[in-house]
Amino acid sequence: MDSLENFSEEINKCSKCGLCQAVCPLYKLTGNDCAVSKGKFVMLNGVVKGDLQLNKNINKYLEMCLKCGKCSEFCPSGIDVCRIFSSAKHDYLKNHFEGRVVQLLFSKFTFDFFLRFFEIIQRKNQVLSKSNTQKSLLYFRGCADKINPAEENAFKNILSGLQYNVENSDFKCCGVPFVSSGYLEKAEDVKMHNTMLINSSDCDCVVTSCASCKHSLEKYETLNKRVLSFVEFFAEENIKFKFDKKYRVTFHKPCHMKNYDAVKKVLSNCENIEYIEMDGYDECCGFAGQFAITNHSLSEALSKQKIEKALSVNPDIILTECPACILGLKQGLLACKKITAAPKILNIASFLSMADIKK
Ligand code: SF4
Ligand code: SF4
Repeated sequence: MDSLENFSEEINKCSKCGLCQAVCPLYKLTGNDCAVSKGKFVMLNGVVKGDLQLNKNINKYLEMCLKCGKCSEFCPSGIDVCRIFSSAKHDYLKNHFEGRVVQLLFSKFTFDFFLRFFEIIQRKNQVLSKSNTQKSLLYFRGCADKINPAEENAFKNILSGLQYNVENSDFKCCGVPFVSSGYLEKAEDVKMHNTMLINSSDCDCVVTSCASCKHSLEKYETLNKRVLSFVEFFAEENIKFKFDKKYRVTFHKPCHMKNYDAVKKVLSNCENIEYIEMDGYDECCGFAGQFAITNHSLSEALSKQKIEKALSVNPDIILTECPACILGLKQGLLACKKITAAPKILNIASFLSMADIKK
C-alpha cells in the first residue's frame, strides 16, 4: 500500500519552478501557496523529514485539491501529484479518528449497501438490450448509474436499433472516491473485484458513461480489455445522428477526460447541431466529489466561473460526460441564480438519445 515515505525522492524532484501555479484552478482562485502542489510539497517534504507532523492543518490543505491532475500534466519533473496526495491522506487517516469514520462510511455495511439498495429499486426500470448481435460491450455501471440509471438507459436505447449486445456485471465503485479520500485499502478491494469481472468476460470492450470511471479503470494494471467512454465508442463506430430540430450546444470537458477529439467528432456527426466551444472548456467545474463538501465555497466559486463561461456562448444545451460534473454545472447555475430560462445540462448519452440514428 502506498505510503508517504515511499515518495520522498519523488517529492524532492519538485524544483519549486511554480509552473503548477499557472494551471491550478485553486491557486488561480485563491492565490494561496498551499492550494497548489508546489506549496503542498514544501509541507510534505517537512513531514517526510520529520520536521512537521501530518496533522489537521496539513490535512486541511490536502483536502484543498480537486485532484484534477492539471499540475501533473504541466510539471516538468513529471511528478504524479495526485498519487502522493492520496498516500499522504491515507497516512493521515490511519492515525486519526476521522479515518475510522471514513472506514465505516466506505465499509460494506454503508457504502456498498447504499448502492445495492438503489440498484435493486432501479432494476425494474432497466431497458434490456438486444442479443444475437455482432459486437459485445460490457457496460461499467458506475455508482451514479446505480442511483440514477438514465445514462445507461439512454445508451442502451441508442444501441437498441443497432447491432450491439450490451452486458452488465456486478461491478463495484471504480475506486475514484476511495483514492481521492486516501482510503487505499478499499480502492484496492474494488480494483481486484472489477478486474476479475472484466478479465473473465468475453466482451469486445468495456464502455462507461463517466470520464472519472474510465480514468480509474485505465489505471487497473492487469486489465485485459479496452475501456471506452460513450463518446469514444460513438466516435470509433462513426455513428451518425439526426436531430429533428436545431440545437446550439457547448461542452464541458471533465478533468479526467483525455480524448476531446472524440467529442468533436461525435458532435460533427450530428445533423442540426451547432457546436460552440466555450472559453475554458477544459477548466474544472469545481465539484470534485468530497471537495464540494469540505471546501464548499471554493467549489461553488469555481462552478460559478465555469457556468458563466458556458452561458457566454448562449447554448440551448450544455453537455458533459460525467455525473459529478453535471452536479458542478447545476451548482454553478444555482450560484448564478439562473434557475429559470437556463440551458439544459445533459450527459452526452441522454442528448444523443434525443436523435434518430442515420443509417
Ligand atoms: S510544476 Fe512540478 S516541479 Fe514545478 S513547482 Fe509545481 S510540482 Fe514542483
Ligand atoms: S490536482 Fe488540480 S487542484 Fe490539486 S494541486 Fe494539482 S492543479 Fe491544483
